[in-house]
Amino acid sequence: MKKILSLVTLLYSVFLTQGYIIDDPLPAPTVALYNDNDNVIELTTESIKQIGTDKSIWMVEFYKHWCGHCQRFVPTWRIVADSLKMYEPHIKVAAINCATQACEDYMIQGTPTIRIFNPRNIPYWSELPSDWSAQLYVTNAKSVLRRFYPEINMNSPYPVVVPVTTARPPVTTKRPSNTVTYESKPDKVHQDDIEKAIQYALTTEIPMKPHMHYPEMSALYKFLDSLIKNTPNLKEKMKNFLISLREWPQIMGFTSITGKQFKERVKELEEFYKPFSQTAEDFVYCKGSDPQFRGYPCSLWTLFHALTVNAESVVFQNHGMAVVNPVAEAIIGYVDNFFSCKDCARHFISAALTMIYPYSDKDTIFWLYTLHNEANRRLAGDTTEDPQFPKIQWPSSKNCPQCVTERYNYMTGRVERVIQFQIVVDYMKRIYGEENIEMNNLIDEQESLKESCLATIPITQREQCNKLMFP
Ligand SMILES: Cc1cc2nc3c(=O)[nH]c(=O)nc-3n(C[C@H](O)[C@H](O)[C@H](O)COP(=O)(O)OP(=O)(O)OC[C@H]3O[C@@H](n4cnc5c(N)ncnc54)[C@H](O)[C@@H]3O)c2cc1C
Repeated sequence: MKKILSLVTLLYSVFLTQGYIIDDPLPAPTVALYNDNDNVIELTTESIKQIGTDKSIWMVEFYKHWCGHCQRFVPTWRIVADSLKMYEPHIKVAAINCATQACEDYMIQGTPTIRIFNPRNIPYWSELPSDWSAQLYVTNAKSVLRRFYPEINMNSPYPVVVPVTTARPPVTTKRPSNTVTYESKPDKVHQDDIEKAIQYALTTEIPMKPHMHYPEMSALYKFLDSLIKNTPNLKEKMKNFLISLREWPQIMGFTSITGKQFKERVKELEEFYKPFSQTAEDFVYCKGSDPQFRGYPCSLWTLFHALTVNAESVVFQNHGMAVVNPVAEAIIGYVDNFFSCKDCARHFISAALTMIYPYSDKDTIFWLYTLHNEANRRLAGDTTEDPQFPKIQWPSSKNCPQCVTERYNYMTGRVERVIQFQIVVDYMKRIYGEENIEMNNLIDEQESLKESCLATIPITQREQCNKLMFP
């Protein structure tokens, strides 16, 4: 008897220590946008601590490897690093991937964020816009250099921006010749991608907000409500986890919370409910051909579409007036307040503003489909596109030949594409509908451990198993 219990205890402690409780749900912690050939210093959770303790001025880009704007920013930052290399160690150009390293202490609101840290100086950083040219960053850095190190000769014979000399892998992706193959692949959705989006949103994106007051709290509640009501195949433990998280600020009487408080609460509830214990470690249909491609943003679109498709089929009314569909509101609120790719959020919100807000469930499905295709159109052929997954006007004509038809316009004398509303909505319902979403066969090891514990010990001692599982 003692042996069984100690085996169970051992297995349980192994689960706890071997990454069973995942702090950052994105895999491949080594993924980085800069490499050894760059003059950009790639910082980690540990090495960033040297900032403010040494005599260097640090120019730091806070990024997330999956963020398209951050990927597009790489060439600029490389030129800045090359240009300022001659002034090292007085100034250092660095970057940190906040998707895999801890950046909470720096209260980053979105990515990319550019900060210049003065040496041993409080308040020791200032923030620069993320849309400057390399030349502007270098000019700004030189003025800071002049302030702290007036002895440095700025009239050096070197050019302000030196040409990029080191051989590096090209950042541009070529549109692949296998587009046809990609377009003929059937459209599929996996539950793990949906769950990974929820996990990443709750454990990493939302806690990035230093403070959440009324607008953010309201967006948070609407997002959680929508997850609870509309996530397909929602497991009981995930539902209980989400409900507890939703109720927590209200039970505590909080009208505002900090990102840190939220993160800690999520961690506590995660440890108790184990909502992601059956979620795969890696993305499934959102896995990119390289770690910087796809992943979280792909899974977020997948989650959003799944929410719109699995929402209740009603028009919400307030005193007889139709109100904006709550799922659409939840999506807008999340993107506006918590999606850390700043440019993505800006594009999405401005595109949404040009459209009529949706009311019915069908309108909401079509609304998001249209916004997504607008993003696909804008990003097709971009450097951020995964060559194995080219951006197309979705779905391909191979997968849904009736979704778009052609019509001759007598007024303009041109052939036009006509999107068939009902056929598109039906197609979306088929692809993102609960019954068509693929599930993994991962068994909940903790549950099965509990079952085997229950099966092996006498009825009178069954409480022991519960205590072991949820001490
Ligand atoms: C709200 C939002 C805004 C974004 N804005 C930007 C931006 O401004 N700049 C930027 O660089 N990146 C942006 N991104 C990221 C970008 O849209 C992609 O998510 C990312 O490039 C990964 O692309 P992907 O190949 O995985 O396909 P994704 O576009 O992520 O699509 C994921 C999957 O959804 C399906 N799908 C594609 N189109 C549709 C559709 N119309 N309707 C239903 N299902 C569809 C396909 O199966 C596809 O594989 C944004 C992401 C989100 C969630």
